Amino acid sequence: MSAHLPPVHPETFAAQAGGDIDSETGAIVPPVHLTTTYLRDADNAYSKGYVYGRPDNLTVRQAEAVLTRLDGGVASLLSGSGMTAATCAFLALERPAHIIAPDVMYWALKLWLREDSKSHGLDVTFVDASRIEAIAAAIQPGRTKMIWLETPANPLWTITDIGAAASLAHQHGAILGVDSTVATPVLSRPIEHGADVVMHAATKYLNGHSDVVAGSLTFARVDAYFERASRVRKMLGGILGPFEAMLLMRGMRTLHLRVAHQSRTAMAIAQHFAGDPRIASVLYPGLETHPGHAIAARQMNGGFSGMLSVRVKAGEAAAIRAAAHVKVWKRATSLGGVESLIEHRASIEGAGSPCPTDLLRLSAGLEHVDDLIADLDQALGANA
Ligand code: PLP
Repeated sequence: MSAHLPPVHPETFAAQAGGDIDSETGAIVPPVHLTTTYLRDADNAYSKGYVYGRPDNLTVRQAEAVLTRLDGGVASLLSGSGMTAATCAFLALERPAHIIAPDVMYWALKLWLREDSKSHGLDVTFVDASRIEAIAAAIQPGRTKMIWLETPANPLWTITDIGAAASLAHQHGAILGVDSTVATPVLSRPIEHGADVVMHAATKYLNGHSDVVAGSLTFARVDAYFERASRVRKMLGGILGPFEAMLLMRGMRTLHLRVAHQSRTAMAIAQHFAGDPRIASVLYPGLETHPGHAIAARQMNGGFSGMLSVRVKAGEAAAIRAAAHVKVWKRATSLGGVESLIEHRASIEGAGSPCPTDLLRLSAGLEHVDDLIADLDQALGANA
């Protein structure tokens, strides 16, 4: 491969997936490297730096290079899912390790932290991460190795001040990790605010077409922590497959356009339903009524994401009934794809979730905003 791009904006870099041209053929779209093994040199070395498919794949490295650039880091590790990427970030901590994590966060990862992490020598305290004082109060000097944030956080879109959390973490020698799945590198680059590692469920906006499960970690430094995370991925075999890496790279070419559009659509939906008598509240950090709005406005650029939630005044059964009556929105879990999704979130999160039972989570896609608003409107009318 040969690099052709001068220093350019992230949009340009993403649109051309790094801008490399295949030196063998001149191909603008890079070939997919499927090989699981590489030829050893006659002198017994591996001078090209590729040994075996579990740690080494060029297609994966190309997708990682795009993401590293978008997130403003120095290295990335792509994994087979967001869960693999996040657990890799935790398993790379030196033990004993105490972790501070948010009360409101992606539920399956919270479940892992709550129920599975102890057997790996990790000890977790959950806090209201919208309050920096609550994070500070949970620090165990000498023991806390990581503060983990998700901002905006599922499904209430709780906001945490990344810069303040980074200062706190660094005062105590801890790592700040941020699940930035919902913000994407288009709206927020946590490393610029002091984060040490940024995680994405690349399954969502980065890929953006609901056809790849993938996860990523991007690091602010190549240091001992990065080396341990690389080792965890290699030893557990967590690397993303080459076909998925190729699809992810294709998805990232349109990331900026999609996220800008989805953010505008989500804002329009939020504003439309904010005064609706059938809605108790609209949760969206773009609205001034959202408790995290001021911080979100400071640390997010160009929008507040394509994710919002509405609480249905008539309660849980009415919320489920509204979701049952949509015709354009798709009733499904996940987020960040081109098609708009609606979900009665409490049904999937189950016991112990902070999600109110009257809440519908909305992932705005790329459809015409008027169609989305009209469809929600008629679905809520089914409650009348
Ligand atoms: N983090 C967030 C914010 C998510 O929404 C998800 C999945 O929904 C994950 C992490 C986990 O990603 P995956 O489903 O790719 O394992």
